[in-house]
Amino acid sequence: MAAPILVYVDQSEGKPVPASWEALAAGRYLAGELGQSEVGAVLLGAASDELAAEALAYGADSVLRVTSADLKDYRPEPFADALSAAVREASPQVLLLPDTTRTRELAGMVAADLDTGLIPDVTALAVSEGRVLATRPIYAGKLLATVTVPSRSPQIITLRSRAFAALEREGARSGTITELEPEIRQASTEVVGTRESERGVTLSDAAIIVSGGRGVANNPTLEPPADISDEKEREIWRAHQGFELVRQLAEALGAAVGASRAAVDAGYIPYAHQVGQTGKVVSPDLYVACGISGAIQHLAGMRTSKNIVAINSDPDAPIFKLARFGVVGDLYEVLPPLTEALRERLGR
Ligand code: FAD
Repeated sequence: MAAPILVYVDQSEGKPVPASWEALAAGRYLAGELGQSEVGAVLLGAASDELAAEALAYGADSVLRVTSADLKDYRPEPFADALSAAVREASPQVLLLPDTTRTRELAGMVAADLDTGLIPDVTALAVSEGRVLATRPIYAGKLLATVTVPSRSPQIITLRSRAFAALEREGARSGTITELEPEIRQASTEVVGTRESERGVTLSDAAIIVSGGRGVANNPTLEPPADISDEKEREIWRAHQGFELVRQLAEALGAAVGASRAAVDAGYIPYAHQVGQTGKVVSPDLYVACGISGAIQHLAGMRTSKNIVAINSDPDAPIFKLARFGVVGDLYEVLPPLTEALRERLGR
């Protein structure tokens, strides 16, 4: 099965990562610009017929599938072997992957296996004189670099979540499904069990994120219960009250809850919520930063948000330079009436 554009559908336990459908839409765009007609999808592991049908419905013309038992759980070696084999089979000009923790590792290994170039975390694509040009933020998002792989094939590109819009699902689309049985290395690790670390944290896919920073703990008028005497515990108790306000606003907006590293390091909220250079990189339609100063490492993770709203008591906080709307004020005073007004307006 030859396909000039090949798209890897990332999934966990048979559930596709929504950004995979965004990658298929980007693949269709590239195919159009390159004057090609065929976009193929690759499914590895728990790749049911339903998942293959979904890939076709979201824009693939054909599916390459490897369902070896060695691919039951994600481990880099067998997945890299299987994906490299699929790429050899389809010999595409471009391999697109949604940018996830798994695919960052996988794309690097496949690029090494195939001795070709990889462009990670891409936010825009263009074609000029038959070459694919990929734009990616660098220096914590301060610059946008346009990169290409001039002389090797395929060009491997991972796409930042929510940078591209998925196509409308067309259930009636159909296409061929080809099974591959490549030789696969034994993995050096075994997954003995998995559990969800915390429910409700889907920052990368969220259209709206409300985040809290160190400022959530700053309400000296809040008096912790008398049995909490340790100063650190009193701080965390206050932070939990502040994060409760952040959560209520998030609930009213149907948003995910994010946090700065200062809030995570101080123990106010688990790491799964961290946005930034050493946390999640997000691009929601709306990002509300509450009590976050706007350090460059935080901005690196949310700079590409479409609309940024900042609530901060310091009018000189750097976050206001990036924000489209800013409220200078104490989050303890601003958030409750804002949440109330939104609940009324949105009927939640
Ligand atoms: P602060 O900078 O302390 O800001 C708190 C803000 O809250 C202030 O602006 C203050 O005016 C405001 N405030 C206080 N009280 C209130 C109130 N009651 N109402 C409203 N506003 C209030 N940071 C990240 O976020 N993500 C990362 O991934 C990350 N990675 C890093 C990697 C490295 C290598 C390094 C060195 C740092 C990294 N950091 C990261 C840390 C970063 O430099 C900042 O220290 C951090 O972002 C600050 O978090 P903050 O804005 O919550 O806290």
